Amino acid sequence: MQTFDLVRASDRPAAIAAGAESATAQQGASVRFLAGGTTLIDLMKLGVERPERVVDINRLGLDEIRKAENGDLFVGATARNSDLAHHPLVRADYAALSQAILAGASTQLRNAATTAGNLLQRTRCMYFRDLASACNKRKPGSGCPAIAGANRMLAILGTSNACIANNPSDMAVAMLAYDAVVHVQGVAGGRQIPLADFYVLPGQRPDIETMLAPGELITHVTLPPPKTGERSVYLKLRDRASYEFALVSTAVAVTLADGKIANARFALGGVGARPWRVRKAEDVLRGSAPDERAFRNAADTCLDGARPQSHNGFKIELAKRCIVHAFKQVTS
Ligand SMILES: Cc1cc2nc3c(=O)[nH]c(=O)nc-3n(C[C@H](O)[C@H](O)[C@H](O)COP(=O)(O)OP(=O)(O)OC[C@H]3O[C@@H](n4cnc5c(N)ncnc54)[C@H](O)[C@@H]3O)c2cc1C
Ligand code: SF4
Repeated sequence: MQTFDLVRASDRPAAIAAGAESATAQQGASVRFLAGGTTLIDLMKLGVERPERVVDINRLGLDEIRKAENGDLFVGATARNSDLAHHPLVRADYAALSQAILAGASTQLRNAATTAGNLLQRTRCMYFRDLASACNKRKPGSGCPAIAGANRMLAILGTSNACIANNPSDMAVAMLAYDAVVHVQGVAGGRQIPLADFYVLPGQRPDIETMLAPGELITHVTLPPPKTGERSVYLKLRDRASYEFALVSTAVAVTLADGKIANARFALGGVGARPWRVRKAEDVLRGSAPDERAFRNAADTCLDGARPQSHNGFKIELAKRCIVHAFKQVTS
């Protein structure tokens, strides 16, 4: 591991000032914020991340979870994944979020991992983590061996000819379905970014993954108040029952009225270059009876345009079945 300076920021302005010395954006930056460290330290040990300065943000008091005055759920950037998953407000009003977090990693990891760190975790594409391989995400222009190689786990939606990596976060999928907003602060001030706009598609620059500007700190995430009568579920399909990333997952939330679907929102994980949500697929469901045909129509619309690689074509049908099954579960 390359040597680095460790800065233990004692307040938010100090952390932002230290982050602002970052030469470029979060990706490829010479400064990194340290939250739980469960992604960052791994990647530093592998030599994939090589920051010159690491700014510890664990003493900034950003770990609050509470109901905001406007009814939003307020989740601090360093709130631990376990605390969020088990919080009474989350269990009562955002069931799919609690389930998504608990479907990820292990208890020990969830006890250390944070909200912002989870949103910013990097892809598990094996070539990205192997310095002996080319990788456009690690080194733009070097190539993408996954396209002709081991791509079974990788994305079928939102990919480019430069990168087919998938976003591995479970939590982000549920947050996307719940219309979460990411609140960030930098030297130029604060701003809010809907999670739907937070991740950028790889195009020819897969090293750029989010809308974060250089040195910007995520301070918290908000989720709008729950919709009256809404039920939700997170379903994750994977190669083994625990401690495994998703082949396909979905967070589904539905409101029924008079035996019809009044409102539906859902997002997919494991299949997209970013957590995947298609509003048109939700519109298909509005006003329909909650039956298999309607769910299948929505699933077909959601997977429209999927581009399978040599080893992951099975994900198209698997994703559709995952969506149908989750909707059946939540409406039965
Ligand atoms: C073995 C293993 C299995 C896993 N399985 C799963 C799984 O099944 N599902 C799943 O979703 N995840 C899984 N994970 C990933 C895990 O959820 C992430 O490692 C974790 O959520 C990252 O959070 P952290 O706080 O440790 O982030 P860190 O490692 O501290 O940071 C990650 C990145 O975010 C940046 N960052 C952190 N906080 C901020 C902030 N406030 N503002 C700006 N930048 C910030 C850091 O600079 C860094 O670039 C697994 C991880 C491991 C090691
Ligand atoms: S899919 Fe993306 S992360 Fe994986 S090797 Fe290709 S460029 Fe790198």
